[in-house]
Amino acid sequence: MAQQNKPNAGGAPDNRNAGGSKGNKNNRNKMPRVNLTWIYIIIAVALGYLFFAGGDMDNSSTASKNVTYTVFKQYVEQGYANKIVASKDEGTVKMYVKPEHIRDVFKAGVEQTGKQPFVQAEYPSADKLDEFVTAQQELGNFTGELSYKKTNDTFMQVFWNIFPLLFIIVAWIFIMRRMGGSSGGGFGGMGSIFNVGRSRAQLVEKGGENESKVTFKDVAGQASAKQEVQEIVEFLKNPQKFTDLGGKIPKGALLVGPPGTGKTLLAKAVAGEADVPFFSMSGSDFVEMFVGVGASRVRDLFRQAKEKAPCIIFIDEIDAVGRARANNAMMGGNDERESTLNQLLTEMDGFGTNSGVIIMAATNRADILDKALLRAGRFDRQIHVDLPDLNERKAVFKVHLQPIKVDSTLDIDLLARQTPGFSGADIANVCNEAALIAARHGKQSVGKEDFIAAVDRIVGGLEKKTKVMTEEEKRTIALHEAGHATISWNLQYANPLIKVTIVPRGRALGAAWYLPEERQITTREQMLDEMCATLGGRAAEELFTGHISSGAMNDLERVTKQAYGMIAYMGMSDALPNLCYYNQNEYSWQRPYSEATAKLIDEEVKRMIAEQYERAKRLLTEKMEGHHALADLLVEREVIYAEDVEKIFGKRPWISRTEELLTSQQEEETDASTASTSQEGAESSEQASAS
Ligand code: ADP
Ligand code: ZN
Repeated sequence: MAQQNKPNAGGAPDNRNAGGSKGNKNNRNKMPRVNLTWIYIIIAVALGYLFFAGGDMDNSSTASKNVTYTVFKQYVEQGYANKIVASKDEGTVKMYVKPEHIRDVFKAGVEQTGKQPFVQAEYPSADKLDEFVTAQQELGNFTGELSYKKTNDTFMQVFWNIFPLLFIIVAWIFIMRRMGGSSGGGFGGMGSIFNVGRSRAQLVEKGGENESKVTFKDVAGQASAKQEVQEIVEFLKNPQKFTDLGGKIPKGALLVGPPGTGKTLLAKAVAGEADVPFFSMSGSDFVEMFVGVGASRVRDLFRQAKEKAPCIIFIDEIDAVGRARANNAMMGGNDERESTLNQLLTEMDGFGTNSGVIIMAATNRADILDKALLRAGRFDRQIHVDLPDLNERKAVFKVHLQPIKVDSTLDIDLLARQTPGFSGADIANVCNEAALIAARHGKQSVGKEDFIAAVDRIVGGLEKKTKVMTEEEKRTIALHEAGHATISWNLQYANPLIKVTIVPRGRALGAAWYLPEERQITTREQMLDEMCATLGGRAAEELFTGHISSGAMNDLERVTKQAYGMIAYMGMSDALPNLCYYNQNEYSWQRPYSEATAKLIDEEVKRMIAEQYERAKRLLTEKMEGHHALADLLVEREVIYAEDVEKIFGKRPWISRTEELLTSQQEEETDASTASTSQEGAESSEQASAS
């Protein structure tokens, strides 16, 4: 029951995790990353070395004293000197004090000063010192020798002088490396500090390290998108043909569609088919914490691309940079992102249509992109890549089943039917998950049940058989889910049911699986019927248990959103007919309507929901027997299928559009049969425990 704000908004499933779509993009950082631990280790070692080595160097266990040359002379004259050592390099002289005079010089005993304390002075010149010492020797005041010492550890001194600097540089390199990540082009090590402003595009080319040969064969379905990009391939292969006739080739193509539908794959396939290099980068890679980096990365990317022309630049998730620039000054805007975007616009203008660089970008939100990006001469071509329909899903399954050892029980038709609303990436994920499940059970090949289990798991999360539930809770959940099932079965426009379970899975305590019809337009009756079915859970609780529970929160949230959409955006209420207050501009919080209208909208929403709730209760009372039978069956079996519901209520008199399409699918009637699943009744465990 996807809520639809705009008539042909895709029926995105509510509670489905579109996992695995990014799996192939993570091989960018192959180089081992230096982690913080290393920096700590280096600091610790350096400090330790300083401490111990330092201790050796200035004999800190022995006392010393700096004195003037005059005082030094006095000491020698008084006969305190034991030994005199002059250092010519430093111009200092050391006088080691005789043990018996230590107290006179240092006012402390040997215990404090050590065996060989000394005083140090700067001497005026070697000649003067020599003269003085010789005189003292003759006078008998000094009996030792005057020796000269060359400072032979010049190297050590130089080392200790530059060590801190060296250390800072090394630390800086590590930090920069961490921040910048490893650079994409394989420049590691020292180079990467200078690479902040370089683009980190991943290059796929012939004979390159990550050569990949994706062709259109690997992209299942997407016939119309493929046809559109075919033109780009033709151009890259043979630009002459077009330019000779004076034709202009689009510079850019924007692939628009939900995540995981194969946009990256399609762009790669274009490169593969045309046999040209492929630069791939994510929009968020441009954005860095430094100002100006994004713009310089854009410049660098285009420079690299021009060198390799003809080639393709692929920018994934371009909305990260291409978001509409703020148009009111109050917001302030994001300067860095804007300057990146400006640079991108400039670059796209900067090269001629025949330079052979084609830019492809992907986004799932074309509506928030800056208008300047979409105008002619830039991304003037939008290619829609939609969720696969039934037949396309079959094709995608066929692609991804190839490497998997399947057994004869596998039924691709059934799988395709069971996976409405799945993207290509989800299907790839199902195949992988099925193989894992089979392996976990020690099987030799992957069978039907493994695939069904994988689908269920991807839709609803892991089954939680161990979740403790009382009989009463179980009964309440069964009544609730049976309420949904009863109403959707008995209303003409409600989505056909596939199965109902009360096995807790993920955060949901129970769920009803539907096969929603992806219509190009939805009528008011259809929306109201769906709303009624969604309210059926709460209505059944109130009617048959006597109290209402927190378990319906998720249902209520969806109903409320849908009612607001119908009334404020689609002009579907009698009090506010034909008015749409939908606001395209995401930066404006101003309501385009008055306080009185706001009140009216609120009232209308309340009225609409109350009406449908009453309708649900009426219908449930009418079909009470069937409902109770369904609930009992649910408590007993935990999972029931459409066939069981059919046994209770009889066949639905209306043939749904999806069924119609399913039966005629052998013919080429596939124009709009995309279906989407909707996990239903996701009652969170915390809430339900209150009931
Ligand atoms: P997007 O860029 O649209 O988010 P990707 O191109 O990255 O999606 O698709 C992710 C993965 O999903 C692909 O690597 C592929 O395995 C699978 N996939 C998606 N669409 C298709 C398709 N039409 N045919 C085959 N595989 C697909
Ligand atoms: Zn529910």
